[in-house]
Amino acid sequence: MTSPSIFTRILNGDIPGEILLDTDRVFAIRDINPQAPLHALVIPKTEQFRDVTELADGDPALLAEIIAAAKQLADEHANGEYRLIFNNGASAGQSVFHVHAHVLGNIEEGDLVGL
Ligand code: 5GP
Repeated sequence: MTSPSIFTRILNGDIPGEILLDTDRVFAIRDINPQAPLHALVIPKTEQFRDVTELADGDPALLAEIIAAAKQLADEHANGEYRLIFNNGASAGQSVFHVHAHVLGNIEEGDLVGL
């Protein structure tokens, strides 16, 4: 993996991005191409894990922190409910190989999100 990733560059302020949440081990940004009124990406600060399979194997507590962050974002920026998506592999739609969760909130009824 090329380092730093686009997400790390946003965290570091090297490129612009709206940071919604910042903890010891994770941060969240608003997706540049939103698919719902709330569309955030929750990202571990480490670039050690390419996808959620590696993350679950390597640091399940960090995966739990991502889910807690998703809930916090849904509480603060939507109605408290949310859809969580991890794309795993290029054929599944993953384009950035620094693991991240898509958090979607206030989804329109009937809206099937294809990311
Ligand atoms: P993936 O396709 O890997 O699951 O998700 C990558 C996401 O990162 C996409 O939804 C894409 O819109 C978002 N993204 C890519 N580049 C940028 C950027 O420079 N800024 C922000 N905020 N989001 C980005």
